[in-house]
Amino acid sequence: PLAPRVHLKQVDSVCPYCGVGCALTYNVDEEANRIVYVDGRDGEANHERLCVKGRYGYDYAMHPQRLQKPLIRVRYPKGSLSDASPNAQEARGGRRKGHLVRYEDVLPAFREASWDEALDLVATRLREARDTHGPAAMAGFGSAKCSIEEAYVFQKLVRAVFGTNNVDHCTRLCHASSVAALLETIGSGAVTNTFAGIAEADVALLAGTNTTANHPVASSFFKQAAARGTKLIVVDPRRPDVAQYAWRYARIRNGTDVAFYNGLLHVLLAEGLYRADYVENHTTGFEALKETVARYSPEVASEICGVAPDLIREIARAYGSARAAITFWGMGISQHTHGTDNARCLISLCLVTGNVGRPGTGLHPLRGQNNVQGASDAGLIPMMYPDYQRVADPAIRAKFESAWGVPLDPKPGLTVTEITTAALEDKLKALYCMGENPFLSDPNVNKVKKALAKLDFLVVQDIFLTETAEFADVILPATSYLEKLGTYTNTDRRVQIGRPALKPPGDARLDWQIVCEISNRMGYPMPYTKASDIFDEFTSLTDAYQNLDYDILGKAGRLWPAPDRAAKDGVQILFDDGFPTPDGRGKLVPCEYTPARETPDAEYPFVLNTGRLLEHWHTGTMTRRSYALDAIAPEAFVEVHPEDLARLGVRPGERVRVTSRRGSIELVARSSTKVGVGSVFIAFHFREAAANVLTIDAIDPFGKIPEFKFCAVRLSRPSGD
Ligand code: SF4
Repeated sequence: PLAPRVHLKQVDSVCPYCGVGCALTYNVDEEANRIVYVDGRDGEANHERLCVKGRYGYDYAMHPQRLQKPLIRVRYPKGSLSDASPNAQEARGGRRKGHLVRYEDVLPAFREASWDEALDLVATRLREARDTHGPAAMAGFGSAKCSIEEAYVFQKLVRAVFGTNNVDHCTRLCHASSVAALLETIGSGAVTNTFAGIAEADVALLAGTNTTANHPVASSFFKQAAARGTKLIVVDPRRPDVAQYAWRYARIRNGTDVAFYNGLLHVLLAEGLYRADYVENHTTGFEALKETVARYSPEVASEICGVAPDLIREIARAYGSARAAITFWGMGISQHTHGTDNARCLISLCLVTGNVGRPGTGLHPLRGQNNVQGASDAGLIPMMYPDYQRVADPAIRAKFESAWGVPLDPKPGLTVTEITTAALEDKLKALYCMGENPFLSDPNVNKVKKALAKLDFLVVQDIFLTETAEFADVILPATSYLEKLGTYTNTDRRVQIGRPALKPPGDARLDWQIVCEISNRMGYPMPYTKASDIFDEFTSLTDAYQNLDYDILGKAGRLWPAPDRAAKDGVQILFDDGFPTPDGRGKLVPCEYTPARETPDAEYPFVLNTGRLLEHWHTGTMTRRSYALDAIAPEAFVEVHPEDLARLGVRPGERVRVTSRRGSIELVARSSTKVGVGSVFIAFHFREAAANVLTIDAIDPFGKIPEFKFCAVRLSRPSGD
């Protein structure tokens, strides 16, 4: 007999993964507390499209390894499980079985506790650390995977209760340098046009972005635009799949972006392909820019970046003569010690050609996580309160002191990598980590491990036993994206509501409620009763989110700014008449090419470039527990050019050892012409072959972003072979 038909409930929500923010509907078997399948919804960002992560990457929430009870450390030194557990030993042996932290491996180090006991312990230890060592010894890592409400209460806890601005999140690892450049030059860190704006562009520059893997549905808009006649110009040292659709692809040498874009600017200015009226009326700094780029003729730029002078000229002419050109960029631009310079060059290209404030034009750093824009807007950054209001500005600080009822620290706080260094130097004693996994996401993992082990007190709030949780004193079980209500802002500035589809497992609690409970116990009441109370308080302290509330966001969401509540949507195209800078003008900032911090040499002859795969998400906590995604992309690999493989005597599929000055990993070698000769690529999702063991923790001086896209490595046969 046929099984009885199960009634499925439809829950309209948003994808939990990338910054595209695809609208979707979960079809839920409520009785079994199980999502059965997902449909794309007709949202502005996706028009029913979904990529493989959005369509199949939901079952992590129903995984048996979900944390269900608070855990308190009882024995074993911190982090000892990372090296000594059977799980880690299996991983070192390369067998598939041990690639995730298993509850049974870690449980001997912890005991289950009641919420009251765990929260009391956390509040007591955090209060002791603050009172004994001072607020500067405290810090918090939030997460772009959390909602605006969670980010807002978290940064408020750190600022108002810990008494410090040492609060940061993974934006430091993705677009911090882009935001630094945008704030400096045009006075706003967000995109000036939505990615769908490409439909009205003659030319689209895609710089350092592997869009088909990292913003897959956005890439479908790019491909459609190309099919309709938009000239795609793709610039990247590792040939991305979207280059198949490009009008021109320029493979620059790793880390030479400034030279390439200065070469384009040189041609634009030398051949008069810029808008003198726009430069005159809307920018400053033109003469200094002109002087600098005069030194970067196509021939000079070519010597550095490796792109033929004629191709530099051809691309510059296409960009400069376009009626409307739009510029997108990703981590290939931002994750360098000169990431801010890279972004400044792109902004200069856009400004001298007047390609901003009109349909088909604009600057669009493609934001990575589904709420990295919202978490940054909510103030989860050490130098700014919500809405990028600077902590060092006395008038702004007085506003927040009045709103929150406590004195606030006037000093900007430490960033992610600075917090790690402070822990190593014994200056930082207590860390609260909500949804971040620095063990895998931060550069130079061996340094991060030492820092985590050195902390007096670490509390980790997450949905799984992450690698970072192995160092925790207390682990608090949180709710997944699929179990909570909250708002998320996508790469376009679209604020959307994520709605709960599942009931949380066991005793897991909502993140914002956990933060409020800790705050209450530390003597600072946070009496919110629902997520929208927090959202309303947040919006009341901002300009950008004025007029937005849960009612108006509804099912479609809304772009910020939304000056007119009665309008169908917020403002798509910003800055048609000046910029929010002190003089209303965009600033042209000249940049000189500087090499990466650690360049190849005889001992370490390859350049390592790291990034992501289509099927996986950051540290793999969610996607490696999604059956379909893990089945498609089950193992770590290093992409090596076939000529280099032949030179090394390694066949595709064989294991190789990759070593940098900071550590060594073993993984499978794949032959690929996506990478150039002398360059290799490793995705950073895999614990058992963690790319960030190799990466360098040198940072950009402005955005403080690490150089994930460039360090020197060598390849060899694994030990024992
Ligand atoms: Fe989710 Fe991004 Fe894929 Fe859309 S493109 S379904 S937001 S991962």
